[in-house]
Amino acid sequence: MVLPRRLRTYSVLNGFMNTQLSIIIPVYNEEEVLPHLYQQLTQVLTTVGDPYEILFVNDGSTDHTLKLVRHLARQDPRVKVISFSRNFGHQLAITAGIDYSRGEAVIIMDGDLQDPPEVIPPLVERWREGYDVVYAMRTGRRGETWFKRLTAHVFYRFFRRLTRTNIPLDTGDFRLMSRTVVTHLRTLRERSRFLRGLAGWIGFKQVGVPYKRAPRCAGSTKFSVLRMVRFALDGIVSFSSAPLRISIYFG
Ligand code: UDP
Ligand code: MG
Repeated sequence: MVLPRRLRTYSVLNGFMNTQLSIIIPVYNEEEVLPHLYQQLTQVLTTVGDPYEILFVNDGSTDHTLKLVRHLARQDPRVKVISFSRNFGHQLAITAGIDYSRGEAVIIMDGDLQDPPEVIPPLVERWREGYDVVYAMRTGRRGETWFKRLTAHVFYRFFRRLTRTNIPLDTGDFRLMSRTVVTHLRTLRERSRFLRGLAGWIGFKQVGVPYKRAPRCAGSTKFSVLRMVRFALDGIVSFSSAPLRISIYFG
């Protein structure tokens, strides 16, 4: 059916107003991965069928990442770009994406294709069943060093022992959150953020979907060992009083 021009504009606008899914992707110097990511992601999102937006958060990249995402946004109105004045870090990039998202469900994923877009349909499916947080659980990590695998394995178990916050094992930020959860999450404005902890602390109906973490598509990790340790400490200090108690005893 061919709609009259005015109605056509209306139906397009209406489609955008009803954005169902927001995909938030923090990107820091990911110029090599972006074309693959966009292609694979849009292919999967087309099969899901819901109106969507892709929010790229450029975290102060120094390569052509910003130019590339802007180019995608010009070509595809479902692509939006938030750009930071400098590198503020992955957690703040996700936070900005969450703040600007409009979808009824918000999905956070990495931009290097380690979080495979094929996991999105099962996340959406569980959300439709009534879950508010559907987190993707890593059952395998291909292409990562034994050091990273071991430290991550130990960290999640150690974290669970230290805090009362229920954070699922082997689960990063790759997850879907309902608008209700996002609304609550947005009221928590801590500066050192450990989103996977905050999302667990919030409660609501949560469920995990297992997946195999893929190797990085191209480029290299942006997390040095020091940065990883700092991130782990941020998580522990935000969710446990043990470090404070230990320093009191030593004092
Ligand atoms: N990232 C970011 N800012 C940073 C570091 C990373 O936005 O300061 C993005 C990065 O581009 C990627 C995601 O966060 O999309 C995860 O980073 P990376 O793959 O380097 O982490 P790893 O998987 O090695 O832990
Ligand atoms: Mg990665």
